[in-house]
This record gives sequence, C-alpha cells and structure tokens, in this order.
Amino acid sequence: MDQAKPAKAAVKKQRAVQKKVEADDRSGQKPRRKQPMQAGARDYPVPPFPKQHHPKPGEETKIEPPPLYDAPYWTGSGKLEGKVALITGGDSGIGRAVAVLFAREGADIAIVYLAEDKDAAITRQAVEKEGKRCLTLSGDVSKREFCRQAVKRAMAEFGRLDVLVNNAAFQVHSTAFEDLTEEHFDTTLKTNLYGYFHMAQEAVPHMRQGSAIVNTGSVTGIEGSKELIDYSMTKGGIHAFTRALSASLIDKGIRVNAVAPGPVWTPLNPSEKEAEEVSQFGAKTPMKRPAQPEEIAPAYVFLASPQCSSYITGEILPIVGGY
Ligand code: NAD
Repeated sequence: MDQAKPAKAAVKKQRAVQKKVEADDRSGQKPRRKQPMQAGARDYPVPPFPKQHHPKPGEETKIEPPPLYDAPYWTGSGKLEGKVALITGGDSGIGRAVAVLFAREGADIAIVYLAEDKDAAITRQAVEKEGKRCLTLSGDVSKREFCRQAVKRAMAEFGRLDVLVNNAAFQVHSTAFEDLTEEHFDTTLKTNLYGYFHMAQEAVPHMRQGSAIVNTGSVTGIEGSKELIDYSMTKGGIHAFTRALSASLIDKGIRVNAVAPGPVWTPLNPSEKEAEEVSQFGAKTPMKRPAQPEEIAPAYVFLASPQCSSYITGEILPIVGGY
C-alpha cells in the first residue's frame, strides 16, 4: 500500500498545529502570572511572609502570621472515639493540629514536647475545648528513659494507648557539607531516629489489634536536600522504618504508616532558616505557598482511624503541594 498519501496528510496536520501555536505566541498572549493555589475551606497565607528568625526549639506564639491549626470547618464524626493518642512534638505545628483533630474525633491526648511550655499550654486548652483530656509531657525523646516514662504516664492517666504519632524533630541546615559537625549530626539522628525508635518500642507492648503508629517523614526523605543532609537522611530512614516496622507488626494487628509533608508553616523552619529565606517559604512549590498545619492533620486522622484505613499499612503519604 502506498504510504505517501497518509504521511503527507499527517505532515499537513502537524504544520497546521504548529502554525496555530506560532500565531498564539506572536499574538503576545503571555501565560498569566500564576497565583498561589487556594483549594481549601478557607484561604491560606501566601509568601512573602515577614522576615523572621527565631531561636530553637521555636515557639509558635512568636511566628508571624500565626500557623493555622484549629480547622474551624472540620466536623468530628467519632473516627477515634474512645481512643488515646500520644503525639510527640504535639505542642506546636503539625503535632498541635493533629492533637486538635484527634480530640475532635473523640480521642484523649498525651503530647510530648521539648521545652515550649507556653505552646503546650495552648494545645492543652485547644484539646480541652474539644471536650477531651490532654496530658502534657516535657522531655527529650532521644533519651530512652524519658520515652519509657512518657508512655508509662500516658498509661497511668488514660489506661490505654491506641495511637502513637512520632513527630518530634530537630532540623538545622548547614550550607556546606564540610561544616556539618559531629555534634550537629548526632543531635539530628538522636532526635529524629532514636526518638521514633524509642517511642515505638515503648508504646507497642501497650497497643492492641486496631492500634496505629503514624510517623512524620518528609519530602526531603524522598528527594534529599543539599543543605539538610543529616535531616534528609533521618527522614529517609523514617520512611524505611515505617515500611519495615509495618511488616513486623502485622501479626499484632498494628498498622504503621507515615506522612511525608512538603513545606508547612510551623516554628520548625522560621527557627532555623535565614530570615530572607523564611519570607519566601513554600513559594517554590507548584501551589506557591506552604501548607498550614490544619491542611496536613487530616492525613493523620485518616491513617490513625481504623474506620478510614484498616487495609493500609507500610505506606508513605506525601503531601507536598503538587508536582
Ligand atoms: P514544630 O517545631 O512545631 O515541631 C517540632 C517539635 O519537635 C516541637 O514540638 C519540639 O518540642 C519537638 N522536639 C524537638 N526536639 C525534641 C526532643 N529532643 N525531644 C522531644 N521533642 C522534641 O515543627 P513541625 O514542622 O510541626 O514539625 C513536626 C514534624 O514535621 C517533624 O517531624 C518535621 O520534621 C516534620 N516536617 C515538617 C515540615 C515543615 O515544613 N514544617 C516539612 C516536612 C516534615
């Protein structure tokens, strides 16, 4: 069969398409400057933010604009009714938003935090406003003994433990790899990896069929980050820990999953990045803004509640504002 005719027709079609696109380009129709994406129940703050730099561990009361955590549009429906959740790093940021939504879904809460007493008091009040109890525990998750005591106190207070959210973290950048000190590296690994390991090992003996562990990973654990080599390493480790532990705990009926957020407006970054960089935080995502903690917390409800995710274990859920 002679192929010349259809080939010529295809060329004609291609050139017609090309001509139209060239005409569009010449007509000066520039793509409109894309606005930050808003697709939520309320509009969220967009960069530039006020330039700011805060001392570690970072207090939420000092962050401008204040992170949004109370999800006023969210109606609870008993997804965690009668359960008890222990949330590390629960005083602020993602942990606080998770505490509030878990309480709204019916859980009593224990939060672990380093030393931000004011932030912890605000979270406790927010949980109590939801009609649930909140135990606040200050200490260092890198220390095995503290983790043991934290779980013991939660058990003494509530008599059960259904959900562990491993979420506390240390993050400080180092511009040059050579400048990353042993002490810095050690602090990051001890907090982010040993902390999760200790808490999980102390919590699991008290958990039962239907219980869940939700770990906070990060987009940096998937993509790496050249100024956060130690931190990225721990986050990748947390993803692997999640998958491996999920297989180990299947026989006990305990699910283990992770959420891997992109940029989220919490004390973590304003207390470590340069003020200039903080003002543009999240601007490079396709949505051109960081998430607010209340936009991340629903994923934790989903992964913690057996009503939502009984067949899901060992998964890493990225929430990164688009690709
Ligand atoms: P945050 O500053 O509000 O929370 C960090 C928490 O860790 C604080 O509550 C602090 O008290 C606690 N903490 C730090 N060191 C500790 C220690 N040694 N012992 C006990 N507690 C300790 O910030 P956040 O952004 O809500 O962070 C929560 C999680 O989200 C972290 O695991 C972080 O790596 C992860 N994450 C955050 C982002 C982001 O852009 N904010 C992005 C990806 C992942």
